[in-house]
Amino acid sequence: MTNRQAPTGCGEQDFGEKYALLSRAEAIFEASRCLYCHDAPCIQSCPTAIDIPTFIRKIRTDNLRGAARTILSANLLGDSCARVCPVEVLCQSTCVFERWGQEPIAIGRLQRYAMHHGVVGADATAILDKAEQRSGQSVGLIGAGPASLACAGTLALLGHEAVLYEKDGYPGGLNATGVAPYKFKLGDNLQEVAFLESLGMEIRTGVEVGVDVSVDELLEQHAAVFLGLGLGADSKLGIPGQDCAGVVGAVHWIRQLKTDPELDVSGIEQAVVVGGGNTAVDAARELRGVGVPKVTMVYRRSRTEMSSYDHELAAALDEGVQLIERAAVAEVLAADGKATAVRLVEVDAGRPSDRDAGTLPAQLVVLAIGQSKLRDLATSFADVACDARGCVEVDLESMATGNPRVFAGGDGVNGGMEVVNAVHDGQLAAHSIDRLIRGGSHDQA
Ligand code: SF4
Repeated sequence: MTNRQAPTGCGEQDFGEKYALLSRAEAIFEASRCLYCHDAPCIQSCPTAIDIPTFIRKIRTDNLRGAARTILSANLLGDSCARVCPVEVLCQSTCVFERWGQEPIAIGRLQRYAMHHGVVGADATAILDKAEQRSGQSVGLIGAGPASLACAGTLALLGHEAVLYEKDGYPGGLNATGVAPYKFKLGDNLQEVAFLESLGMEIRTGVEVGVDVSVDELLEQHAAVFLGLGLGADSKLGIPGQDCAGVVGAVHWIRQLKTDPELDVSGIEQAVVVGGGNTAVDAARELRGVGVPKVTMVYRRSRTEMSSYDHELAAALDEGVQLIERAAVAEVLAADGKATAVRLVEVDAGRPSDRDAGTLPAQLVVLAIGQSKLRDLATSFADVACDARGCVEVDLESMATGNPRVFAGGDGVNGGMEVVNAVHDGQLAAHSIDRLIRGGSHDQA
């Protein structure tokens, strides 16, 4: 197991936690409110079907190791999911209390409490049962984000070797460098990764498939390969001025905030964030959080059409982020090669028009309009296909691609969903790979 450390002095360390860890009294009180519903709707709305009433009941009796075991047996990334899952639209939205117009059980915060205390100082194998019989077969996983980590951890539990090839220096994917720091910090992610590594997997960071190791070598060295590719570089707008200094992609910006002690925003008085998704909202809130006085989101359509979660956008607006609807950035204006303002135009049916909508001063322009797909890497495996969006095509029951030895999951398949969806994919793929290794086919009998 590698002892990796987050760099010190980064901007993310200035952020507090969105929700403080519950005290024991608070956790037991909240757990006591749960009705332990027989047909618990909260379980149905969790993509990994965590047995929520059971782990909450264990919290009530102070059995925190048992609560953590219940969570981890359904979701190996139970700690990060407790922090980054949009519980307001998943498990908590279906809690019976919500239906009755009352405060739903704080499932996310209880899960965080159980994971914090239940795994502290523990090796993962002290909590989860690992197959005694080893298969002697290994699986290669591209990427070390949530999908690959969940897949590798499940494979390790099932008795297989797992080797993850991660081109970044940090394992964890977006959990490492893309999650808002008030939800989950890089150091928290590294702790979770270390816990998963204790199941017995090898993570090779700084290794890029297609550059440092070839696709053919992977197929030679491993019985199966899992593509946990995630998404590629931030997309660009294709407008004049987009390449000048001060124009960055949102994922790049969040990564800098989390990993670069040299990041300096002191000269930025005004920033513009382009986009209407959760990444745009995260970037805008982070800019306010590091002290940028004026942060404006520019979105092509109306607020009600934004794909960000309502509660996240409401929090951003509360924190002083401004929103301009039905406008598009047509040009980034610059002086001496550095962004100074954006020129806006009105939008007709989501498309920029020629009608001027003024200029907005901005020393930083953050583009949160999506990320490219890693189509070339995926299709370099024989019989692996991508759809029109560039997402890897799989059978959703098994996560198998058209190549019988290649499986895929996570953002590279779904185009960008939640961590919990990636975990579900990875775990599902691991069981299919297990069947392939032990029985010669990934199909369910
Ligand atoms: Fe508890 Fe709410 Fe789930 Fe019922 S629906 S088991 S009350 S968390």
